[in-house]
Amino acid sequence: MKKRKINYLLIMISLLVIISIAFYRSGFPKTAQKTAPEKTRTNFLMNTVVQIKLYGEEGDRIIDRSFDRIRNIEEMMSRTLTGSDIYLLNENYPSQEYITVNPDTYKVLERALYFADLSGGKFDPSIGLLVELWGIGTAAARVPSAEEIERALSSVDYRQILLKPENRSVKLLGEGMKLDLGAIAKGFAADEVGKIMKEEGIESAFVNLGGNVLLIGSKPDGTPWKIGIQDPRFNRGNVMASIELQDKTIVTSGNYERYFEEDGIIYHHILDPETGYPARSDIISVSIVGDSSLDADALSTSVFILGVEKGLELINQLEGYEAMIITDELGVIVTEGLKGKITLLNKVFYFLGSD
Ligand code: ADP
Ligand code: MG
Repeated sequence: MKKRKINYLLIMISLLVIISIAFYRSGFPKTAQKTAPEKTRTNFLMNTVVQIKLYGEEGDRIIDRSFDRIRNIEEMMSRTLTGSDIYLLNENYPSQEYITVNPDTYKVLERALYFADLSGGKFDPSIGLLVELWGIGTAAARVPSAEEIERALSSVDYRQILLKPENRSVKLLGEGMKLDLGAIAKGFAADEVGKIMKEEGIESAFVNLGGNVLLIGSKPDGTPWKIGIQDPRFNRGNVMASIELQDKTIVTSGNYERYFEEDGIIYHHILDPETGYPARSDIISVSIVGDSSLDADALSTSVFILGVEKGLELINQLEGYEAMIITDELGVIVTEGLKGKITLLNKVFYFLGSD
């Protein structure tokens, strides 16, 4: 009788353990997330479309807070907004005084100089005058004369940007030099929104600042987010590949979003600081995956200009960054860490190892 009771108890305990494991495996702790309400909002900030989607309570307040932070970053780092740090620095010449900037601007500038060095000067935040001259993406877009390009080019040299850490001040040495953080500031903003989400305890969110995508956690059902990479031949919404990711950023630079066409030639917005013309690259689109959106943003622009061979060399030498490249022959190249995460919808698939 006694033995039977013990047996019975043992069976009950085993059953309980099995049921708990089953619940745990099926995502039992996430059921609270499943019922968390979804909030999605879109805004035009930093000269691009910004979309935020999150799952959680108080979504409206958290999205407001995120948009406020992005606006605040734009007000510090825009080249065109009167009174921004970058505007003041660009207007400062020839006073040759150091100007103290906001800590955020200082940090982004520091990082920008790091990537300028790393890319052998292909990424160059002092490219502002050239960007202004081409006006790509604005109503004033045109092909400048060779002399105009020559003149603007002489102001481009990141080594002439001086930073003084003691009081976070900056001086531009080059005559007429203008800073432009368009290739890196959106990445910083995405990271800052990520910080807000974490602070607010959000476990599932999707943030997209015009191609700078940041993913918090996974989808609320526990499966990875699926990010579509646009097929450059077609309009927005046509996907060439999809990448499954969670808790990562993915930043895409391409030549098919901002450009104009003249006499059958496409002039796009990523400029080569060596030639002063839109970069002639064997890349149509490059997506960088990693943990820091700021870094991935700088890297996507750098790799685009460097081209397939040197671009891959750069990514493979870095820890924690992966790339997917669509070449001008519409081939797809991915680095090792993305293996198994990509579904190609209609193209050849090359696989490149890390050596
Ligand atoms: P997007 O801003 O469209 O996402 P990128 O991150 O590649 O694309 O940044 C392109 C922007 O960066 C341009 O619009 C311009 O403001 C700036 N830019 C262009 N060429 C360079 C360059 N060689 N180095 C740094 N910034 C650049
Ligand atoms: Mg970029």
